[in-house]
Order: sequence, then C-alpha cells, then structure tokens
Amino acid sequence: MRRELVIVGGGPAGMAAALAARAAGVRDVLLLERDSCLGGILNQCIHPGFGLHYFKQELTGPEYAGRFADLVRQDPGIEVSLNSFVSKLDGSLELSYLRPGALVDVKAGAVILATGCRERTREMITIPGMRPAGVFPAGLAQKMVNIEGWLPGTEAVIAGSGDIGLIMARRLTLEGVKVKAVVEIKPEPSGLARNVAQCLDDFGIPLYLRHRISFIHGADRVSKVTVSRVAENGSDEPGSSFDIACDTVLVSVGLIPENELLEMAGGAVDRRNNTPVSAGVNLTSVPGLFACGNAFKVYDLADSVTADSALAGRLAAEYLGASPSPEEPV
Ligand SMILES: Cc1cc2nc3c(=O)[nH]c(=O)nc-3n(C[C@H](O)[C@H](O)[C@H](O)COP(=O)(O)OP(=O)(O)OC[C@H]3O[C@@H](n4cnc5c(N)ncnc54)[C@H](O)[C@@H]3O)c2cc1C
Repeated sequence: MRRELVIVGGGPAGMAAALAARAAGVRDVLLLERDSCLGGILNQCIHPGFGLHYFKQELTGPEYAGRFADLVRQDPGIEVSLNSFVSKLDGSLELSYLRPGALVDVKAGAVILATGCRERTREMITIPGMRPAGVFPAGLAQKMVNIEGWLPGTEAVIAGSGDIGLIMARRLTLEGVKVKAVVEIKPEPSGLARNVAQCLDDFGIPLYLRHRISFIHGADRVSKVTVSRVAENGSDEPGSSFDIACDTVLVSVGLIPENELLEMAGGAVDRRNNTPVSAGVNLTSVPGLFACGNAFKVYDLADSVTADSALAGRLAAEYLGASPSPEEPV
C-alpha cells in the first residue's frame, strides 16, 4: 500500500500535525494509533489546566484532546487506524503496522513520528533498598486511578516533584490516599509553580527540597522509606535521615522520548536524552522523516505541543511538494 503521509501516534502532536498537513495541501494522511482511541496521554489527565494558552480557556485533558479528535474525524482526507501498532520503519519510509487480524505494509511519501514519551523508572535513578511491590511510575499510577479505577495503596510518598508527581499528589489525596510527602533532590521544584501551589500547598502536603529517598523498606510490600537531606557535594548529610511509613512510592523523575522507530530507520539519536539529532524543530537526520511533540523533546504543556507540532505537518507538506487547494475542504 502506498500512502502520501503516515503519522505514527494519535496524541495532541499527531493530531495537530495531521490537521496542519491537510491545511497545507496534503491529500492523503494515514494516522496510526496503537490505543483504542485518539488523545494519547491526555485521556488519563482528567484534571483541568489544558488549553489556557491555545484556547484561552481551561479544559481537562480529555476535553482538550476531544476538540482535535473531532476535527480529525471530520476531515475526509485523514484516515485514522486505531489499535494499530507500528512495529517497523526503515530509511526508505517503508513501515509495518499490526492491527487486529492483520500485519500491514505501507510505503509512505513522508512520515511524522508523534510517538510521545515513556516514564523514567526507579531503576534509572537507582533508589537503594528492597524490591517490594508498591513502587510505581507516577503516570502509571495516574492511569490506574483515572482509567482503570484502581487505587495503588493507602499511604504514599512521591519521589520527584515533576508535574505528574504533583498532579498525582492531589489526585491521590482526593481519592482518600494519605500523601505524606513529596521528596525532591534539587533545591527547587521541577514542576510548574502553579502545580506546587494548587496540588501541594492547597492540600497541606509537605515538599522536602534538597532531600532524596535513600532507602525503600519492605519485604513483600513497601513498609516505609528513609529520607535524607542532600549536601552540596551530593552525599547524604550525616544525621539528617528520617523514616516515613507508607505502602506506596510514586516515582516522578522525568520522561524519555520514544524514538525506537527513528533508530530503526537509521536516524541519529542523541543518547543523552533520546531525542532526534536535528538541524531544526521537528527535523530528523532522515529525509522525509519528521518528529514532533514529546518524541522530539519533552514538553511541559500540551498547548505548546499542539503549536509546535503543526510545523511538522507543514514541513511534511513542503517535503511532499503539496500546496493548499481552494476546492479541497480542510
Ligand atoms: C503521565 C503524563 C502526564 C502528563 N500530564 C500533563 C498535564 O497534566 N498537563 C500538560 O500540559 N501536559 C502533561 N503531560 C505532558 C504531555 O505528554 C504532553 O502535554 C502531550 O500529551 C504530549 O503529546 P504527544 O502527542 O507528543 O504524546 P502522547 O500524548 O504521549 O501521544 C503519543 C501517542 O503515540 C502513540 N504511539 C506511540 N508509539 C506508537 C507506535 N509504535 N505505534 C502506534 N502508536 C504509537 C501512543 O499510544 C500515544 O497515543 C503529561 C505527560 C505524561 C507522560
């Protein structure tokens, strides 16, 4: 099968790129999403705070994603294929995807990777201690609570003050979990100031700056954590350690762009942060292959993802030699 433009990932980045490519004259867009609906990570972000920049209006994540999903579905030039996992891509832009009952091969004129991020884990920051159950990446816990309706535990400590951890401190508190502390190794919070105010201060949740979880205790399940103050030289200050009893630890220590398909296609990837080596926004080292959204760099705000990812759609249209047609409904 030959397609003009294939976009991998139906989150805010992929949807913005698809709409912008159409507006710039691309006639045939195939949008592939491995999940069963469009929206990406925003489907689990049921809190408000989205759209303030882009729509000048406060929306939840699903509401924000829904506005773009409606536009994508109404566009006759965009075919959306859900439950479609792209497993292979090469440098000549031939790709394969799996959908229920079929393995489909496509030759694309151009490809945009909008595959998002995955979370850094406990192992990647080497928190010492035992290996009990009850340690979760914060975004996974967000999915458990908001999509599956499960609570990860009853008393939690959060390692790292990234936005996902801050949002989850509030979310767990609202669901009846006692959040005992957020522990941040740096002298200042990693997340947005508004999230510190609205998610911690408003709920009286303590934030320990210049502290780290120095040990996780527990045989089968987490029973407590040891927290230590971190000295200027990076070591634990002697005599500063204290224990917090808890059965759950959430780890919110950053995101890693998903760029395995880019690597498979022979594209250069910066090993320090897994982003494409790039001569400009949304470009990769492979001609005709673009990357946008969290796959290009880690964004704090979905609004910025939307704005920047539209550029990927326009770049792909330019590469394909497309130009807007006044007759074409976009
Ligand atoms: C847990 C979490 C919580 C966040 N909370 C907020 C928040 O509260 N506010 C905010 O502004 N930002 C938040 N962000 C930042 C958020 O990532 C961006 O705002 C935005 O969602 C990134 O958009 P994206 O389209 O690049 O990635 P995503 O939304 O992650 O979408 C990527 C899509 O690509 C699909 N995909 C990946 N690989 C393949 C493949 N091989 N084949 C087919 N499909 C594939 C995925 O299923 C996914 O749907 C959060 C991020 C995370 C990870």
